[in-house]
Amino acid sequence: MEKRIAVYPGSFNPFTVGHKNILDRALKLFDDVYVVFTANSSKSNEIDYDLRQKQIFKLNTIPHVHACTRDTLTVDSCKQFGANFIVRGLRDTSDFEYEKNTARVNEILSPDMQTVFILPKPMYDNVSSSMVRELKKYNVDASQFVF
Ligand code: ADP
Repeated sequence: MEKRIAVYPGSFNPFTVGHKNILDRALKLFDDVYVVFTANSSKSNEIDYDLRQKQIFKLNTIPHVHACTRDTLTVDSCKQFGANFIVRGLRDTSDFEYEKNTARVNEILSPDMQTVFILPKPMYDNVSSSMVRELKKYNVDASQFVF
């Protein structure tokens, strides 16, 4: 049977325990998951590149996980990695509105592409990269939320 390969794209600035929960759940559905750290022009471009490199390294130690950065459209990353699925996490209705739109556009760009939405465990509903960045800005230890 053909391998089921998914791309899990995101700004991941930084990759949080919430993102990790989605990844763990995706690994139960797919043979291989490519975690693609993307540049999101509408979001903060203040990136801690040291942390990003460490997170990519750590993710690559997990079996069946391949982590990298890409500055391309998600559908192009999918083609490169031979993936037919895009994984996205859904925390709430505002995630849903945004994600639905993106999924529709991706399906127009690449009709074979299917987006799979995964709910996190409830305890991760309130974890976000922006919250981590905000805490760090005020020198509050945010390590419990960071992968
Ligand atoms: P993007 O800029 O692409 O939205 P993010 O890093 O903010 O990147 O999020 C990547 C994906 O992970 C999105 O699908 C987002 O909804 C999801 N996500 C973010 N935080 C959580 C969380 N705590 N639980 C579940 N999914 C999450």
